[in-house]
Amino acid sequence: MKERKKLTFWETVKRQWSLVVGLKVTGKNYIKPQITTHYPRQTVDNISTFKGHVQLVGKPKQPDVAKCICCMLCVTSCPSSCIKVVKMKPPKEDPIPEAAAPKDMPDAAQPAKQAPPKAKAPKTPVKWTLDFNLCSLCGTCVEVCPVKSIEYSNDSYLAGYSRKDFEYDLLADLKERAAKMPAPAPKKAPKAVEKETAEQAEA
Ligand code: SF4
Ligand code: SF4
Repeated sequence: MKERKKLTFWETVKRQWSLVVGLKVTGKNYIKPQITTHYPRQTVDNISTFKGHVQLVGKPKQPDVAKCICCMLCVTSCPSSCIKVVKMKPPKEDPIPEAAAPKDMPDAAQPAKQAPPKAKAPKTPVKWTLDFNLCSLCGTCVEVCPVKSIEYSNDSYLAGYSRKDFEYDLLADLKERAAKMPAPAPKKAPKAVEKETAEQAEA
């Protein structure tokens, strides 16, 4: 049988000290207030740093309309192919109007039919979906969007019964979030602001 190596005095002290340090850490955490919550009965709202699934950002003056300009950069850069964007179609063009010319005029002399200028498709998405089942939260879409129309949500309470529950319609989500936003405060008339400033200066 191998004989156990005898510890020196300082080796014994070092070992005892590491035990004290370990107990100190345990004790400190033991008396700390509890920070876990009993989900789903309780939730926390101070999770601004949490990076959840991506979501759309609304226009400053129209929070229910996405800033997206349908450049498709996010769609082509997403490594998981989980974003689908469908651009709004251009408005239907009116038929070319018949030029007013006498009927008996020979064809060669008829004025040429003028094609109206082609209507441009608005740069607005009609569909913007995310399949969160495939998303790896790599953040590429957030980085490449030229108009900062994508951001991380702090939606940490995700649960579902099927994969379908994680396929998100982000345009509908944006509208829902905008509807919950508080109404902007009414603007004060310039005279009221002047009066208020004068009163504050006097005080
Ligand atoms: S975070 Fe990455 S994987 Fe997820 S949608 Fe954006 S680009 Fe795709
Ligand atoms: S990168 Fe931005 S602007 Fe381009 S399609 Fe995606 S969300 Fe829209």
